[in-house]
Amino acid sequence: ATLLALTACGSERDASSDDPAEPEAGFAQDSLIGVALPAKTSENWVLAGDLFTNGLKEAGFQADVQYAGASTTVADQQSQINAMVTKGAKVIVIGATDAAQLATQVSQAKQSGATVIAYDRLITNTGDLDYYVAFDNFKVGELQGQALLDGMKEKKPNGPYTIELFSGSPDDNNSKVFFDGAMSILQPAIDSGDVVVGSKQTSIKQTATQGWEAENAQSRMDTLLNSAYTGSKAPDGVLSPNDNLARAIITSVEGAGKPVPVVTGQDSEVESVKSIMAGQQYSTINKDTRKLVAQTITMVKALQAGDEPEINDTDSYDNGEKVIPSYLLDPVIVTKENAAEAYADDPKLGPLTK
Ligand code: BGC
Repeated sequence: ATLLALTACGSERDASSDDPAEPEAGFAQDSLIGVALPAKTSENWVLAGDLFTNGLKEAGFQADVQYAGASTTVADQQSQINAMVTKGAKVIVIGATDAAQLATQVSQAKQSGATVIAYDRLITNTGDLDYYVAFDNFKVGELQGQALLDGMKEKKPNGPYTIELFSGSPDDNNSKVFFDGAMSILQPAIDSGDVVVGSKQTSIKQTATQGWEAENAQSRMDTLLNSAYTGSKAPDGVLSPNDNLARAIITSVEGAGKPVPVVTGQDSEVESVKSIMAGQQYSTINKDTRKLVAQTITMVKALQAGDEPEINDTDSYDNGEKVIPSYLLDPVIVTKENAAEAYADDPKLGPLTK
């Protein structure tokens, strides 16, 4: 076993490692694995919970999968993680409700000998986080920014284009990474004057959607339409960080009696894929939850065997205390053009026809 894996395993060794016939294990095969997920703010979290419960059991582990409650999410998740530590979980997988408020829990987990993996969302300001597994969030943003430009050009070959920008919840570390990725593509077009932000609201603060709540995005869009789009004015495009918010933005625009602009998304939610096929929402991102959960379980199995889990990124995610060794998967942009192909083997979305 490597140094890293030994550190991660703590001092407790599985009794079976005394048997020379058995390979040296990180911990017993039937150990408890804790999975602390945020509130169900998008379909991917619902799916992840089911996949973790079944996948961990299939691999022979005991699984304790918890969701943070809808209202007091932070305190909820903190006590769920504490309970997992008390029960002796060997690995704790966390989809953080609030990136900056779990350092104490992560440190306690670490002290108890558990390995901590941040799932989908990074946990900040702690040197005790062991690994991060996620889709490449910056690339998600780049794909969204590019889709917004492409979609507007398809509808109207020449600019200037008027857009609005939305970002995710400020307590989710991903929100800034998605937004920065998108702005890396959009900012040059804004600087050249080809793209104009109608409301002039371009900062992450102004564009934020607290709690990733659809109603917050919908009411901000209502306000923007009432102030910056009076009379026959209408936006050509809206950068939306995910599908749930994209549908809320479209609802707002329809309510105002304006034509539906080019709206981006993320997560391949059933209703949004339908909307894309119907020519309403323009794009989404395929981040196959099955792959992300499978990758996480592969890491858990490596730790169980006393091996160092495979990582493929050692420089993207500095959490303020250290750069977290990460395994990043590749997100895929989906529009009406490639949806049938992109979801060919996804039972949730079924066979699609253009
Ligand atoms: C996830 C997105 C999701 C959002 C809201 C983010 O951290 O990466 O896939 O849309 O949370 O649930």
